[in-house]
Amino acid sequence: MTSIAVVGAGVAGLAAAYALRDADADVTVYERRDTVGGRAATHRRDECVFDVGANYVKEADEDGRVSELLTTELADGLVDTEEPVWTFNADGEISEGRGDDSPKWTYREGLATLGDRLADAADAEVRTGTEVETFAREDDEWWLRVRGGEATADRLVLTPPAPTTAYLLDRADWDDPLCSDLVETASDVPYRTLLSVALHYPDRTDLPYYALVNADKDHDLGWISREECKPGHVPEGESLLIVQPSPEWSRQHYDEPDDQIAIGAADRTAELLDDADRYQFDWAEVVRWRDALPDAGADADVLERAADQALYFAGDWVAGEGRIHAALRSGLETGDEIRKSL
Ligand SMILES: Cc1cc2nc3c(=O)[nH]c(=O)nc-3n(C[C@H](O)[C@H](O)[C@H](O)COP(=O)(O)OP(=O)(O)OC[C@H]3O[C@@H](n4cnc5c(N)ncnc54)[C@H](O)[C@@H]3O)c2cc1C
Repeated sequence: MTSIAVVGAGVAGLAAAYALRDADADVTVYERRDTVGGRAATHRRDECVFDVGANYVKEADEDGRVSELLTTELADGLVDTEEPVWTFNADGEISEGRGDDSPKWTYREGLATLGDRLADAADAEVRTGTEVETFAREDDEWWLRVRGGEATADRLVLTPPAPTTAYLLDRADWDDPLCSDLVETASDVPYRTLLSVALHYPDRTDLPYYALVNADKDHDLGWISREECKPGHVPEGESLLIVQPSPEWSRQHYDEPDDQIAIGAADRTAELLDDADRYQFDWAEVVRWRDALPDAGADADVLERAADQALYFAGDWVAGEGRIHAALRSGLETGDEIRKSL
């Protein structure tokens, strides 16, 4: 049976494993963190559940394949956030959005559930807490040094964000000119850095929107959302805001202590909402995403050449769009490609 190693249990890696579920293959997914889902990440504190990476999944794929999967096989616990997304500009003026009422899906237990659902549906061994430290091409096999051991595989799928993929390729023991082309291609993908700040308040103000997005990209804040609009996330009467400062503000303040970042984000939020109660949160959590969102895709022609060497890629940066549905689709397509070649 063909052995397949997938590096990364974000939605792309798990979707690749899912697409291979009926194949005559032995699939192992290696994930360096203790949880699956990658940037579809959820935290819990007190009785609150809050999404600290991606906020929701949109119904946005052209042929509906991802939406179909989400609403059937992965649907257990899926919920829609019904309130709309409004906009604000550099002057802090808030306006109604474009009336887009398509679903904004998350799970009652948070978006990380998407990773759990994919892992459950895939017929693969998922090894969390198992970083792939390096790999080598030996004869016709891939050899991997993983945390606490080693492994071999006939096929290798890389799904970490492009900078990490470039780093892994750069230190791989693989004597082929294609390797340096792949390093260059992955290194060329530009990324935005983002901070995600969760601010909890013991009280709540009724507002007509779920979130505000900065439309002119000229404000210190890029995004504010109200987790209480997501069914099951925040106890009645409390409020939990997710504040994502702009990429520039995030970069400038990235290395500051958490409490300083939280105060900075809360101050700007209170000003924007014109709500003095929002200065005083009762607890906060700060999550740092150095490689948050790719701003472009990688050169597909170079990536495709690697298939001759039993090496494949998947992820939002392969799709060229920093979105869950794009990453999921990329994983499905990579899994399909491998399955057809078996
Ligand atoms: C703050 C923020 C807000 C966002 N908002 C939205 C949104 O509202 N809607 C939306 O659709 N998208 C949003 N996104 C984007 C979305 O989260 C990503 O596009 C998507 O999750 C990418 O999935 P992926 O599988 O390609 O990569 P990842 O989720 O990054 O998965 C890669 C996995 O590889 C693992 N890994 C890395 N190196 C190794 C190694 N050496 N060994 C083993 N494992 C390794 C990582 O730990 C990770 O789990 C947001 C992202 C961020 C950061």
